[in-house]
Amino acid sequence: PAAGSVLLEAKAVTRRFGGLLANNNMSLEVRAGEILALIGPNGAGKSTMFNQVSGVDTPTSGEVLFLGESVVGKGSRTIARMGMSRTFQHVRLLPTMSVLENVAIGAHMRGSSGVLSAAWRMERSEEARLLAEAARQIERVGLGEHMFDEAGSLALGQQRILEIARALASDPCLLLLDEPAAGLRYKEKEALGDLLRKLRAEGMGVLLVEHDMDFVMGLVDRVVVMEFGEKIAEGLPEDVQRDPAVLAAYLGG
Ligand code: ADP
Ligand code: MG
Repeated sequence: PAAGSVLLEAKAVTRRFGGLLANNNMSLEVRAGEILALIGPNGAGKSTMFNQVSGVDTPTSGEVLFLGESVVGKGSRTIARMGMSRTFQHVRLLPTMSVLENVAIGAHMRGSSGVLSAAWRMERSEEARLLAEAARQIERVGLGEHMFDEAGSLALGQQRILEIARALASDPCLLLLDEPAAGLRYKEKEALGDLLRKLRAEGMGVLLVEHDMDFVMGLVDRVVVMEFGEKIAEGLPEDVQRDPAVLAAYLGG
């Protein structure tokens, strides 16, 4: 997609769990070559929103367009194959397999969460192509020197970057990252930020869920703030940071 073109458009997405409105009338838009942060206190509904747009879950009502096409009810594998790739809030790596194998499996499964079944079904004829593509992504994110290390032996910051490499292996135009900076050291956050800037410069769209307001400042292009399932603010990071409703949400949370 051309730089600046709309990749993802969520319109009035609502997700009800019994009496709880985890997402209420949520709308957002992500363009090619843009990083949008979705922030808000714990329990605000950020991960639920990710699940609605990535096909892991289905909205109670509302519309999700990806590359102009409705993806509601399509399922996460289909959506991943269309070019939307995501990571999850908790690391989902195969710790005793190599960095290379972890990414190769990601390329194979294209965004599905069925890691093990994908590993079992991998055919030898496909292996060389997958490994070459995986190696390319590992170099791209700067983990080349760890290609043959066990994933579980990497520092947390490197594991998060490895998850991004795995998401990149299915050749997405839109990346959804759920709290990639959580628990990272300052230097690791810097490395992660540098990688996201590089991907943006290459035209990638990034939707980033983040609890840590400091990490998104100076990195992202726009911010959407959620509280109690709803959007309470949207705009440039420096404006949103000063918004009284946002300050209240963070102090209250
Ligand atoms: P965040 O990612 O912003 O911390 P979540 O999207 O995980 O928030 O959760 C938003 C709210 O929805 C929380 O109150 C959570 O308990 C609830 N919730 C999330 N998923 C489910 C589910 N599958 N069933 C019932 N409640 C859920
Ligand atoms: Mg969450």
